[in-house]
Amino acid sequence: MSPHLEVKNLSFAYDSKPILKDISLSVEKGDFIGLIGPNGSGKSTLLKLMGGVLNLPDDAVWINEHPINAIKKKELARAMTWIPQEHPMVFPFTIQEIVLMGRHPYLPPLSFEGEEDYRIARHAMETTQTLQFSDRYFNEISGGEKQRVMLASAIAQDPEIMLLDEPTSALDLKYQVQILSILKRLNEEKDITLILAMHDLNLASRYCRRLILLNDGAIVRDGTPEEVFQKEVIENVYGVNVNLHTLDGEILVHPITSGS
Ligand code: ADP
Ligand code: MG
Repeated sequence: MSPHLEVKNLSFAYDSKPILKDISLSVEKGDFIGLIGPNGSGKSTLLKLMGGVLNLPDDAVWINEHPINAIKKKELARAMTWIPQEHPMVFPFTIQEIVLMGRHPYLPPLSFEGEEDYRIARHAMETTQTLQFSDRYFNEISGGEKQRVMLASAIAQDPEIMLLDEPTSALDLKYQVQILSILKRLNEEKDITLILAMHDLNLASRYCRRLILLNDGAIVRDGTPEEVFQKEVIENVYGVNVNLHTLDGEILVHPITSGS
């Protein structure tokens, strides 16, 4: 099977500061990938480049064997969605309006959403439990609710690939698990390919079948949680001593604090 999304020898610099160094990876349809690595290792930059959010220096990212630079914006938006970590939206849009924006890549020019678009948006809000505040304004809801609304909008977009930048970072435990469970279901039932930048190694291990560990703009490890979570590797990359445990078949990382 040919890869669904492919990154080929991608190097990238902001201004002249090199950030990503010769990144190559292949993503198969239905993969559930956690992109992990310390702060500043390049996770957000890589997601933005894969999502066509940052301009690519050359044809380094391909979807279904087409370079994304050659795909029209609207077509790309039907194939792939990117959810940023922060939502600096200051405009007074309601939740429903934001979820309906997910339908824009499907609308003919200068036309409004139809019944089908409203139905899809409603379903996306049910899935993410955001329907109950669909008439409220985005800047009047909590950080966790915003994350769920952004996810609802992405679901309404009905993409093949979702790129999510730390989708659970603003959430308490209950909503972290809720968001990840929704994503797991989308992956299993709709075969949506997921690539998540993740901060929490143990949540990443629990939900993602494949982990890609970045350090200083380069891929250090790419494999199952068991393959990636090796004591020396994690200690080197994160600069902290750790113990590894297995609990209910999941491998977990515990930092060892000094004195213990
Ligand atoms: P991560 O998401 O893993 O924390 P980022 O991709 O955000 O890492 O950042 C990688 C590096 O790129 C960091 O050194 C960061 O300071 C730098 N960086 C990120 N965004 C910009 C930007 N817009 N302009 C210049 N440097 C940036
Ligand atoms: Mg980041």
